[in-house]
Amino acid sequence: MKKTTDSEITLKGINASPGICIGRAYLVDREGVEVINKYCILEKHIKSEVKRFKTAVQSAKAELRAVIENSPEALQKAQILETHVLLLNDKLLYGRTIETIEKERVNAEWALKTVVTGIKSAFEEMTDVYLKERVSDIVHVSDLVMRNLAGVEVKNLGQIDKRVILVARDISPADTSQINLERIQGVITDLGGKTSHTGIIARALEIPAVVGLEVATRRINNDTLLIVDGTTGTVIIEPSENTLAEYEDRKVRYERRQAVITRESRLETKTTDGHPYRVMGNIELPEEVVAVINYGGDGIGLYRTEFQYMNRPGFPSENELLESYKDVIEVVAPRPVVIRTLDINGDKALATGTMPAEANPALGLRAIRYCLKRPDVFRTQLRAILRAAVHGDVRILIPMVSTYFEICETKRLLDEAAEGLEKDGLPYKREIPLGAMIEVPSAVAIADLIAEEADFFSIGTNDLIQYALAIDRGNWLVAHLYQPLDPAILRMIKHTADVARDKGIKVHMCGEMAHSPLYTPLLLGMGLEDLSMNPQAIPAVKRMIRSISLSDARTMIQDVLACKTARQTFEILREAYGDLVENHLVEE
Ligand code: PEP
Ligand code: MG
Repeated sequence: MKKTTDSEITLKGINASPGICIGRAYLVDREGVEVINKYCILEKHIKSEVKRFKTAVQSAKAELRAVIENSPEALQKAQILETHVLLLNDKLLYGRTIETIEKERVNAEWALKTVVTGIKSAFEEMTDVYLKERVSDIVHVSDLVMRNLAGVEVKNLGQIDKRVILVARDISPADTSQINLERIQGVITDLGGKTSHTGIIARALEIPAVVGLEVATRRINNDTLLIVDGTTGTVIIEPSENTLAEYEDRKVRYERRQAVITRESRLETKTTDGHPYRVMGNIELPEEVVAVINYGGDGIGLYRTEFQYMNRPGFPSENELLESYKDVIEVVAPRPVVIRTLDINGDKALATGTMPAEANPALGLRAIRYCLKRPDVFRTQLRAILRAAVHGDVRILIPMVSTYFEICETKRLLDEAAEGLEKDGLPYKREIPLGAMIEVPSAVAIADLIAEEADFFSIGTNDLIQYALAIDRGNWLVAHLYQPLDPAILRMIKHTADVARDKGIKVHMCGEMAHSPLYTPLLLGMGLEDLSMNPQAIPAVKRMIRSISLSDARTMIQDVLACKTARQTFEILREAYGDLVENHLVEE
């Protein structure tokens, strides 16, 4: 927190959704049920107490359903509320609460509170950030049930009748779904990280958001004037005249620039010395394809298929997978779609509960390791991909390859899947490019061996940085060390690109590093080809490519490789390309 003038205070948080807004604060005071009393239930009343709990769950479900039906389309796609409906049925929450009422003969409110406290402390001990954040889902749904038990009316953000910036400890997906885009200019919260729901939803709705501010609700009063810069993660409370003028100007420039670069994004993307590049989009769900096309994406460079396996009991069927792959492929055709096979565990656990707990999930039975242990699950997906491939330009990408054996074994299973489809008389295409994700240091070291079996590499910097620098990608305590420009990372990328060139295969990047336009010259200079990123980042990266020459970028690489620190490389990039980046010049 920084005091800039008498009244002006600057808070720094996490940049969860880009853009700038200026407006008045609206404090969302969560009208939950604060005091919960415990009382005993007579044996003869237990049944009716359980019934009272079940009725409250039904009403909570009905409320959620109504919210889902009335929520903006983009949010429905985030599927968060559907998850909440599922959670209401979850054994952990629903079953255990009923059990507690029956066994301990206590009122439903107390039983629910006890169960939620137990779940919260179990989750809080976990080191995994993704799972930790799922605690907030449980808290949100239990709040909803609690309010129904106590008959408290739910506050409705949809009733806000002026243009405001929401300020909250945390905002539940159900609250956020009532956001009226005409009214809500931005969102800031005390809690939350980059992968928290507020961020996910704000990005989907394209409103600026800063999360993880810790003290926002304590420092800000209703109606206080605020500036929210979601690109840099800055919030300014009661800005001075000068600051206000500066940000008004920045906002206009940001919006004008976004509009222009999005329009240009459909044009062919070539460097000034004539080298063409493809800039593609990363998606998690089929519905996100539209955003990729709207932002001018040249295809899907990473389809993270695991999301279809999450938040559901059991595994999706072959036909279910086929239908969703086909939906994506047909919309994107004739542009390519890179389907990454199941990358579960690590930070993305399945709801099926079939996995034993792992002490180090990031180093555990994740991604291709899991698939090779569960050939039944893998086969279903491979068959669906081979069948979907007849509908367009499909490529397969294997996540977390760390040994030569894994790529060979995948090829064998692909052949087996094709044979099975042949026998079943179903249409399929076997001759599709097979790529290996390069995101584990061992894969970099044996890139030459992998290149003998793979048709392309796709560098996943999110994990490569995590594994190479020994930094948990979701741990904010070491977030300052999570540095794509670290010389160790740059050498690994360069080595991978050199091997690909020598072996005559393509090398792409689909990790977050690809989305920062400041890094684009560096990546092109090192020999990267297709780049893939979150859809909103596509226009700015395309513009950067159109503004630079490949030969200059290649020359710069010599200087970069001589750098000893990330900071030195950052300075080289800022010096050479900073003027072209403008709003994106946030040191990452
Ligand atoms: C990566 O690791 O860089 C990547 C693209 O995969 P994910 O973020 O899904 O692990
Ligand atoms: Mg990865």
